[in-house]
Amino acid sequence: MTEYFEVLDRDGAARIGELRLTESVTTPARLDDVLVDSGSLWNADREVPDGDDESLTILPHRSLPAGTREEVQDAFSTDHADTEFPTAAVVASDDPTPQGADAYILSDASGFVGHGEGFKDAIISAKEALPADTALVLSGVATPRNVALLAYAGVDGVDAKLAKVKGSQAKYLTSDDEAFLADLDELPCSCPACQQPRDAFDREDCIEHNVAALDAELRRVRERIRAGRLRDYIEGQARHDNWLTAAFREFDDQYSYLETRTPVMRTSEISAATSDTLRRVEIQRFAERVTSRYRNRFDNPLVLVPCSARKPYSDSQSHGQFHDAIGYRGHTVSMTSPIGVVPPELELTYPAQHYDSVVTGRWSEDEKEFVASVLRQYLRRNDYPRVVAHVPDHGYRDIVERVEADPEIDLDFEYTVKGHPTDTDSLANLAGALEGELKFSKRERQHNTIKAIADYQFGDAAGDALFGDIEIQTTGRYPKLQIRTDDGDQLATMVPQYGLLAMTLAGGDRWLASDAPTKTVDIEGFVPHGSVLAPGVVDASDDIRPGDEVVIEGSAAFAVGRAEMSGPEMVDSTRGVASTVRHVRER
Ligand SMILES: [Zn+2]
Repeated sequence: MTEYFEVLDRDGAARIGELRLTESVTTPARLDDVLVDSGSLWNADREVPDGDDESLTILPHRSLPAGTREEVQDAFSTDHADTEFPTAAVVASDDPTPQGADAYILSDASGFVGHGEGFKDAIISAKEALPADTALVLSGVATPRNVALLAYAGVDGVDAKLAKVKGSQAKYLTSDDEAFLADLDELPCSCPACQQPRDAFDREDCIEHNVAALDAELRRVRERIRAGRLRDYIEGQARHDNWLTAAFREFDDQYSYLETRTPVMRTSEISAATSDTLRRVEIQRFAERVTSRYRNRFDNPLVLVPCSARKPYSDSQSHGQFHDAIGYRGHTVSMTSPIGVVPPELELTYPAQHYDSVVTGRWSEDEKEFVASVLRQYLRRNDYPRVVAHVPDHGYRDIVERVEADPEIDLDFEYTVKGHPTDTDSLANLAGALEGELKFSKRERQHNTIKAIADYQFGDAAGDALFGDIEIQTTGRYPKLQIRTDDGDQLATMVPQYGLLAMTLAGGDRWLASDAPTKTVDIEGFVPHGSVLAPGVVDASDDIRPGDEVVIEGSAAFAVGRAEMSGPEMVDSTRGVASTVRHVRER
């Protein structure tokens, strides 16, 4: 039971927390001022101290060097004390046994910080063994340059020990560098310590500056987490030290660690400025769902077009011109880096309208290979009578030709662009290629959109399982569609900001009764209002991600809502909002 720490906000593995001391601390934070060490058991027998609510008391500990044999560790293990004040326990990353504390300090941090793979292994090992609603603390390792990456990996607390030691050695730290004071002609900082003539600045000032720089970076990191934009920052900032880049790439390889913790939708934009963007969870998850859950329901030819800078694509001038030439006779799928391919039914679905990329017209080999692999998988899964590739030379055409050459794809490709895709001749070629093809109706378009979103959101074949066997009505103007049964019962609403469905109670009933995979939160016998708190959760589906639509069931109530944390975290946590509640019915 964690009484003194609560996670308030999440951005992947990074989180905003509150350490509830007499004066509460917002994490990720520097904890020097609140940590009180009861001391090591190596040099004395120690009693559990009389702690208080003003500080985080480190329980007596016995830290062992990394790699200590398990029998030796067991022989020296400390029993956790039942305390009524905030505590932190010292554990080793390779044997992080929970001890009922509010925070855990990894004893071997200075051994793995600085090494990409070792860092990744240590953090994941600790995070998987320790309760989700406790704070993870690394002592003696934080610098202004590495602290953003520490937070990105899931670290909640650090201290200024290392920054102070470096200051005393006349090493001047910034978020991008570590310089010898003697080598600096100017002080590139506006903290109070740096507001003096360069030659008056001494080691004491350097210590003060280093701590101020660490604090400033922590403020920046917290703001980034609140905005859901820490990853964008990391992709650029980590370039300043190779081990940092190695470390976040190591985490990219541990897809499930980050995926479990990454929201399925948010309002902030993804800035796609580096090749590492291709590997971030939101991009990989969209591509994975489009190629394993989405199914094309149109009988028309596939028309491949380039994406537009403006989102959603259908609002752009170029796509308006494509639309005029196609006129509902083709299924218009956009090709884009870094998203891959975007069917029109999913053009609003996060992150398809939430990214901004650097438009140079030049594609890197990584981008080409990524988009080609998504298009290849897409075409293996979906049937089309023909493919019309309305794409420009350079990049786009190269990608389509690679896919066309795949022996498993037995389709005729026609290329309709001469020069630029919006040139009059190109548009005339496009219209001509579709001559004689039948138009699909608005009704077909709306129904297919709803089903495609259900497939994407809930799982393969969910669209037909949920909405296939009834006469559904869509009311409202795209993109504000409402889904109703023939009798007028509303089942769901399409939320235009994220391109996802929000269920009503009738929709929740139907979801549970259907063959579609459900995401369920089992609660105790109470009627939730507004939200379900984690202590009230009895069980939750493993595959629930932050932002997922969920049904909430208990002996006293049935409800629908949106998850605020992952399923495993709901079960594991004793604090915090597990899910918001949109509609509730008493039982
Ligand atoms: Zn300064």
